[in-house]
Amino acid sequence: MVQSRIRTEFVATHKVISRATIPPALTGNDRGWSYSKPSQSDARDCQTGEWMMNSFTGRCLCGAVRYEFTGDAVLALNCHCRDCQRASGGASTPALFVLRNSLKISGSAKYYDSIGESGKVISRGFCPNCGSALFGQPELMPDVISIRPGTLDDPSTFRPAIDIYTASAQPWDVMDPAIPKFSAAPPR
Ligand SMILES: [Zn+2]
Ligand SMILES: [Zn+2]
Repeated sequence: MVQSRIRTEFVATHKVISRATIPPALTGNDRGWSYSKPSQSDARDCQTGEWMMNSFTGRCLCGAVRYEFTGDAVLALNCHCRDCQRASGGASTPALFVLRNSLKISGSAKYYDSIGESGKVISRGFCPNCGSALFGQPELMPDVISIRPGTLDDPSTFRPAIDIYTASAQPWDVMDPAIPKFSAAPPR
């Protein structure tokens, strides 16, 4: 079965990578649209004043699939491609990318694979019981996985840095004019 084979490979090819090994093109650090951390007033650690998105948890609607993550997010975006519209049922899919080896998932998500506009597989993880969309694993970027930020226990800190695949955005879509837009994939 394709889905379980791919999931196993993700685990088997896990390697420890540090933030330094994330290519700048992925984080957008060299383009001015890097993941923007919330302002200090959003910080949860009042003692140090530091932004504390270094430990968070989330779950699907029924609670059968849960996850926890330690570390910083590497990229946050909204994808307006047709596949994301279908998969989410909405105008776009918000995605918070984190290092795959920093995310601990408990419970069994089911994965559905499709070929994205990139020509590469995108594996979307969801709860087989309640259907909540939870994860996105792009074959193009095997070291990262995206989380659907609405499943976070505290979704308030999500800050999308870019909009992608805006060529297929719907007329009823509402986007933040302040963040960069890419008609297809962001440049790599
Ligand atoms: Zn569920
Ligand atoms: Zn998409």
